[in-house]
Amino acid sequence: METSIESETQAQQAWKLRESYRGPSLHDSLLKNEFATVEHQQDALNRNLRRMLEHCYDAVPYYRDRFQQAGVSRRQLRDPASLQRLPILEKEDVEKQFEGLRAQSLMSNQRALGSTRSSGTTGQPTLVLQTDASIGMFRWLKQRELRWYRYNPLAAMLSIRPSIELPRLPDGNLLQNENYLKVKSWPYLGGLFETGEAWAFNNTNSIKDQVKLLEKIKSQYLLMQSAGLEYLSMQSISEDAISILEGVHAISQTLTPIMRSQIEASLQVPVHQNYGLNEIGMVASRCTEGGRYHVHSEHCLVEIIDSAGNPCRAGEYGKLLVTSLTNSAMPLLRYDADDMAEALEGPCPCGRTLASFGAIQGRYRRIAQLPEGSFERWAAIQLTLYKLAAENKSAVSKYQAYQNQEGDFQLRIDCDEEIFSKITQQVEQDFKLAVDEPDCPDLEVVRTNEFHGEQGRKFQNFISEFIPDMDR
Ligand SMILES: [Zn+2]
Repeated sequence: METSIESETQAQQAWKLRESYRGPSLHDSLLKNEFATVEHQQDALNRNLRRMLEHCYDAVPYYRDRFQQAGVSRRQLRDPASLQRLPILEKEDVEKQFEGLRAQSLMSNQRALGSTRSSGTTGQPTLVLQTDASIGMFRWLKQRELRWYRYNPLAAMLSIRPSIELPRLPDGNLLQNENYLKVKSWPYLGGLFETGEAWAFNNTNSIKDQVKLLEKIKSQYLLMQSAGLEYLSMQSISEDAISILEGVHAISQTLTPIMRSQIEASLQVPVHQNYGLNEIGMVASRCTEGGRYHVHSEHCLVEIIDSAGNPCRAGEYGKLLVTSLTNSAMPLLRYDADDMAEALEGPCPCGRTLASFGAIQGRYRRIAQLPEGSFERWAAIQLTLYKLAAENKSAVSKYQAYQNQEGDFQLRIDCDEEIFSKITQQVEQDFKLAVDEPDCPDLEVVRTNEFHGEQGRKFQNFISEFIPDMDR
């Protein structure tokens, strides 16, 4: 399926800038860019990259030193390949080299605008200084992706996520469980565009209460963490609420292909995803037509490299590096996002010419260290649960698979008592058959409503002792 500049322009009509909005508007130029020739895209990218590299050479001590160590002169920065002469920038470097990475001056058309924080490697948050350009891009890129998803901006949106990520109450406090918050416009976009109402609800509310709210407000769009959507897909939801739902957005956590299939089949709508980092902002959004992540190349550049540091060939998975093109206050170049993604080449079936990559395989450290067969076994557990949940809607509220240091598994599951022995029997059987090996790790199935990391933003439906540190 293909889209075109004409159909995107048509879809753009639904988005009306607020009359009160006085700032610059980027949405139409972003649209045009999506269908520019590949050569035009490359030229624009090279120009923006060169500008950033020269800025780093002139104003950012950390990079000036690195270029000098690599023997790269300022003149050589005209060659876009000079980016690859820089070492990879790790999260630890950003923490340790804060002063060196801080620009001594900004690009002429930018001004400093606050900072972003993400969880650090030592318990302290990683701080990245930002500019009006780097922060300001987020809203325009958000609108771009919602246009790609064909969201109707005047419809209602429900967000179910950790309270810290939801709009604050009028008194400035965090939203408490068992209460919802209704606001007049969509988060982030309400200041720019006319939008419908938005509703907010904590993801620590019980899954039953989440279903109740969805049935009550009947929103067209739903935004949730991937695992939350997975649990929701196992519940009995009224036909009314399902038929009104038009799209769901899975955020924050790994969404495996089988989770996607389960959610799409059960909620009968497409699951949308983007890829972003607190340190950089919105990096890429997944197009519905081709299933690829298109890089927002007006904002950043993505490389996917193998373990030797060379660019991956199409179809290979490698480390994902992101280079910011809009943050002159504290530029992150070749930043290791700690994720693995599939390199792709050639045009996307959707017709957009923005650079793209394929599936994201979760946090790099998570994948690289797991014993062989771990993912197959986790998938077997999931598929069995989905099957049983389809036959017994709402019988399973939540689950979590846990792998200990010996490689053995525990499945923690919050389910109705009547179905527990059936689940145990079926899961044990399918777990054994998941991998064709004589030595199968143990699996223990426990009925409980206590889960690891439950209250935090770091909750995962699969955790393993082989993973040294949890996701941010
Ligand atoms: Zn595409």
